[in-house]
Amino acid sequence: MKLEDLENEVQKLIKNTVMYCYQCGKCSGSCPTTKVCPSYNPRRIAESLILGRWKKVLSSNEIWLCTLCHTCYENCPQNVGFSHVIIELRNIAARAGAAPDEFLSRVRQLAEVGRIAVISKAIERRRSELSLPELQASPDGIPRIMEATGLKLREG
Ligand code: SF4
Ligand code: SF4
Repeated sequence: MKLEDLENEVQKLIKNTVMYCYQCGKCSGSCPTTKVCPSYNPRRIAESLILGRWKKVLSSNEIWLCTLCHTCYENCPQNVGFSHVIIELRNIAARAGAAPDEFLSRVRQLAEVGRIAVISKAIERRRSELSLPELQASPDGIPRIMEATGLKLREG
């Protein structure tokens, strides 16, 4: 699917959320990602969306830098729910094939082995030294969850 085909969805999202943003900057001021990566700026992303630059936002890697900590959500005086806007934008970008490969490979790994991080020999050894139980991959339920949530469809 092309980005253009998803315009209605993006416009609806903007109309219901970001349009309430009055650019106070509280989100950027409290964002932990902005602290370590100043080029990431939630207020500026909101501004771009309001000004109609949604294609640029969806095509850039910015929306994938957010850690989804929800601090901006808690601090926003307008209840924009910016972290949820990011989730929606990611979903839309993924459907348009604009999700970064690193994210997609993690989804594939989750489907195949039930984990997004590989259990290395070093991790197993460290857990054993700390008397922690052996980690078990549990892929049985994962494919069913992915099917039910549509994650498999979005990956493709
Ligand atoms: S905190 Fe809310 S109103 Fe203020 S700039 Fe961020 S999204 Fe806009
Ligand atoms: S949810 Fe994302 S944009 Fe909001 S404060 Fe956390 S890292 Fe920043």
